[in-house]
Amino acid sequence: MLRKFKADLHIHTCLSPCAELDMTPRRIIGRAMEKSLDIIAITDHNAAENVFAANRIESPVTIIPGMEITTSEEAHVIALMPDIDSLMELRSIVKNSMPTIITEKLAFEQVIVNEKDEVEGFIKELLINATSIDTNRIIKIIHQYGGIAIAAHVDREIYSILTQLGFIPEDMDFDALEVSFRTSHTEAETILHSYRRYSWIKSSDAHHLVDIGRCYTEFHIKEPTFEEIKLALNAKQGREVIWHG
Ligand SMILES: [Zn+2]
Ligand SMILES: [Zn+2]
Repeated sequence: MLRKFKADLHIHTCLSPCAELDMTPRRIIGRAMEKSLDIIAITDHNAAENVFAANRIESPVTIIPGMEITTSEEAHVIALMPDIDSLMELRSIVKNSMPTIITEKLAFEQVIVNEKDEVEGFIKELLINATSIDTNRIIKIIHQYGGIAIAAHVDREIYSILTQLGFIPEDMDFDALEVSFRTSHTEAETILHSYRRYSWIKSSDAHHLVDIGRCYTEFHIKEPTFEEIKLALNAKQGREVIWHG
């Protein structure tokens, strides 16, 4: 029996230097419940340490472990992973492919917290830099670990695969293209008509609590799990992505 589940698959925590400090896993989950979201993904820039806290908080919301990776072309790619172990393997590959720019000032804005909102530490390496891994390679690595690779905010004028490359090459094996809250489905039809081979989703890219769920994707799936989302993105076994507005 398939049901509809609401998912916001692109949310930053206080570990991302551009996100507000109130974006702790506990508050994010609280806001997700207020917005009746069934599934959220935690996707910090090139890092994932706050996924541990999110995973320890009991709630009806399914947490998908993820990361927003900056490729060598400066395109943002969302990696959604089946579990924390595979995510942390990916995190270590990303870490080893980034320039080590230590910034004491910014460190205080890249905060690791626990499930009680207590500060556990800071990451001192600047997290928003590009990695040395190109987009095709990062997609392959994500897939090797069983993950889902999504082209982030393809309708935006910065850090999107479309602005960085001008087009999406035929062999680029994304599982989905993500559109931001700025673009309606009708507008997306114009921008993305050449890319019907991919599923399209809509996520909030929330950096502030109020942004969570400002847009979302509905999945017609059996249960709110990573595996079911993967089936829907690949239109398998009757699962599908439903996108309104
Ligand atoms: Zn981004
Ligand atoms: Zn983002």
